[in-house]
Amino acid sequence: MELYVHIPFCVKKCNYCDFLSFPGYGCDADERHRSLSCRYVDALCGELERAGRKLKNTPAAGCRSEAEEAFTSCFIGGGTPSVLDKEQTEKLLIIISRLLNTLSASEFTIECNPGTVTKEKLLLYRKYGVNRLSFGLQSTENEILKRLGRIHTYEEFLESFRLARECGFDNINIDIISAVPGQTIDNWKDTLKKVAALKPEHISAYSLILEEGTPFYSEYEKDPTSLNLPNEETEREIYHITQRILKENGYERYEISNYARPGYECRHNIGYWTGEEYIGVGLGAASYISDRNYQLLYKNMPQKEILVSGTDMLRLKNTEDIGKFIGYYSDKKNSDNCKDAGENSGIGIAAVEERLDLNSQMSEFCILGLRMCKGISKSEFAKRFGKDIYDRFGEVIRKHILSGLLEEDDDRIRCTPKGLDLNNSVLCDLLL
Ligand code: SF4
Repeated sequence: MELYVHIPFCVKKCNYCDFLSFPGYGCDADERHRSLSCRYVDALCGELERAGRKLKNTPAAGCRSEAEEAFTSCFIGGGTPSVLDKEQTEKLLIIISRLLNTLSASEFTIECNPGTVTKEKLLLYRKYGVNRLSFGLQSTENEILKRLGRIHTYEEFLESFRLARECGFDNINIDIISAVPGQTIDNWKDTLKKVAALKPEHISAYSLILEEGTPFYSEYEKDPTSLNLPNEETEREIYHITQRILKENGYERYEISNYARPGYECRHNIGYWTGEEYIGVGLGAASYISDRNYQLLYKNMPQKEILVSGTDMLRLKNTEDIGKFIGYYSDKKNSDNCKDAGENSGIGIAAVEERLDLNSQMSEFCILGLRMCKGISKSEFAKRFGKDIYDRFGEVIRKHILSGLLEEDDDRIRCTPKGLDLNNSVLCDLLL
């Protein structure tokens, strides 16, 4: 089982971002913001402690029996986790490091933004077992960074990256974003080459999506030309250039938008794409667990009372109301030891958003798995669902092998390069 921890704070909101995060945090935060982030971290620690206790006390399917080994990987994301100050960070890391088996090969990532990391914080991350950093750089062009509303320059990123290496981090991801306002083929090539020259272990290269509610979206609605976005042809060229330049520099593409040096693929994300269970902790965090584990961990039901067959999977989501979230964990009656707590004595207040029966799980297994270049395993499908993949998707698979979008060998079915380009048309069929 994997663990995701959400920190919904940023120094300032970027112009393209619709993630659940609030601006006004970091070292210049005023008293009100500082106090809110402290209370949030306390609540988060409450949720994490409960998750640890639940996993320790319930031999939930797929979970190890000891809290110390409950999670196989952890990703602290946001928002900007690196805006938390030293005390808040340490409080959080003490608890998480108890839940992770940091001695084994667990992957423990924290997202950082240039301009918010210090040597002190980086050493603290190391002390508590963080072994992977993910930096949001986005571009090496200061003009573009400004247009995106980022808080840092390229030079400030370089300093944060240097500090991270100096502190011993040998597994670092850099996020870059293409198809942004003012992007040209040349400045994208420049970004790719400069980033590759730094030799990070992993590079995520996404293209901009205009999300409703963002400043970019409003600008676009008023005047679509004002953003000066690259046209479709340029976007396609950018997509192919990305693959070529990163390959020339030793990066293997292992998912539509993710590249890594051999052995440095992100295990946590691979868990998402292969249908592993995960628990999301913090404001608005999503979880994906079996119905059986939901009843054990969130509903606090004794094992013998669980009547469901256990084949359904559930997608849960924590509240997005920060007042409610903090209030819940500071309310004593929700404590694990409270006799009246009833249903509330599970991990937290997540609501079920979606229930996936076996058919939906089979579709999802293929849809997410085909995002990865190595595709999906036929034997794994049979093991998980007790069914031959051809009995369920034979027609779609044969159709797309014929159209050149899919290929197969003895055990695996994967998208061809053309199939990865047009991934959506394969996936749409699998949804039916
Ligand atoms: S730093 Fe990241 S999470 Fe925060 S506003 Fe910018 S893109 Fe969004």
